[in-house]
Amino acid sequence: MKNYDIIVIGGGPGGYVAAIKASQLGSKVALVEGDRIGGVCLNYGCIPTKTLLKSAKLYEDMLKSESFGIDLGDGASISVNWKNLMKRKTSVVDKIVGGVEQLVKHNGIDVYKGYASALDAHTVKVNDETITAKNIILATGSTVMVPDVIGLKESMTAGFVVDSTGAINLETQPKTMTILGGGVIAIEFATLFNSLGTEVTILQRSDEILKNLDADVRRTLQRHLESKGVKIITGAQLTRLDGGTVYYQVAGKEESILSDKILSSLGRVPNLKGFESLNLKVDKRGVVVDQHMETSVKGVYAIGDMCGKMMLAHVASAEALIAASAIHGSKEVIDYNKVPSCIYSFPEVGVIGYSEEAAIEAGYDVGTSMFPLTANGKAMAEGETTGFVKIVHDKKYGEVIGVHIVASHATDMIAEAAVSMELEGTIYDIAKTVHPHPTLSEIVMEAAHGAVDKPIHMIKR
Ligand code: FAD
Repeated sequence: MKNYDIIVIGGGPGGYVAAIKASQLGSKVALVEGDRIGGVCLNYGCIPTKTLLKSAKLYEDMLKSESFGIDLGDGASISVNWKNLMKRKTSVVDKIVGGVEQLVKHNGIDVYKGYASALDAHTVKVNDETITAKNIILATGSTVMVPDVIGLKESMTAGFVVDSTGAINLETQPKTMTILGGGVIAIEFATLFNSLGTEVTILQRSDEILKNLDADVRRTLQRHLESKGVKIITGAQLTRLDGGTVYYQVAGKEESILSDKILSSLGRVPNLKGFESLNLKVDKRGVVVDQHMETSVKGVYAIGDMCGKMMLAHVASAEALIAASAIHGSKEVIDYNKVPSCIYSFPEVGVIGYSEEAAIEAGYDVGTSMFPLTANGKAMAEGETTGFVKIVHDKKYGEVIGVHIVASHATDMIAEAAVSMELEGTIYDIAKTVHPHPTLSEIVMEAAHGAVDKPIHMIKR
């Protein structure tokens, strides 16, 4: 029986990062993975979707090429080559997974292929092997939730309904698609398929999509998606599915929609199978941990989606560093209010901290300032003027407590806000920070000027 300092179970952005960090800190580490290293993020989530979105954006831009002074020439036509689009996605994923496998290998980590179960807080079974360790880090992620809707499971089995993994592996492009759910993943797929020419309908139970975001952000995005032809039906209660037809009620009236494919994007649940013997404390989100990621069982840590705090890859990785460091005696913590979240729609969304509504509810003396992309030179040059930045600050000291960006590169731009908030930066700090010109990042500085006094490139009365 092989003995380790730490066994990490699950090789996603939580698990593989924890394994590498623990090894860097001097521990002898085993990493157990039942599927492919990289987890959902690299294989079925973040990376494949963004690779496909790049193709979709290129296609969308090419369709507009004449407005940029580029003629396609006589008889030229642009079309989506679905097979090659999928091929590129697979090759990008394989390359990144291969890179992570090398990282794991070169850090001297023993990799076990198979699904693990814990026999106790120090003993893990993989296939026919039993391994032991002083500490275990659980990082088994989450899986798609299939709610109890009549006919949903049957329509999935029959291939009418796919989940996100099915959607990134479709053999042909559907002409029509109905998306069940209006969360982040649903919106990314709506963007992807809409841009590639699929007719997309979103069915959302509540009265707005992206319910947790700042109202200005979610409304802008909803309007923009609708202007591009995405049909968004809110207040839709699913009643049943029959093959490719979804039945739902809006204001008490039954409606139905038939489409080539239905994407079920109704949430995710933590993977807890195999750890029943540990009797871990769980709540409705997942495994309960303390601020150093230790579970209710001493010496057993849990990170990432299985804890369900924020189901994001960078959160899983950040928690991995906390857990690995905690085992080695360093007691760091994460401030989840300073974690950015992104949506890879066109335009993108990057948000961090309090929305205006949440800040008011939390009792801050709230100030806000917005600056639109229509007044930004780089946005005009790129023909991408939908969007804005909104800074939410505490009037007392001007501390920035929330930043909300809708812009073509919002997912990159939000990092500036993250650093600023990590350093407890103020609107005065951002306003006086010289930003390069012409860049989209100038809108952050302009919004800060607007919060302090007046922006330069906008008439503020
Ligand atoms: P996972 O990545 O799920 O990894 C867990 C691993 O554990 C899996 O590989 C699984 O096979 C393995 N495992 C499970 N049980 C066992 C067991 N008993 N024994 C051995 N191995 C086991 N997040 C972002 O931050 N940005 C994005 O752009 C983004 N896009 C996404 C798009 C989609 C379509 C989806 C579905 C998710 C997306 N996410 C994104 C979320 C992100 O993928 C997850 O938050 C992240 O993968 C969680 O990491 P993790 O390590 O906790 O779990």
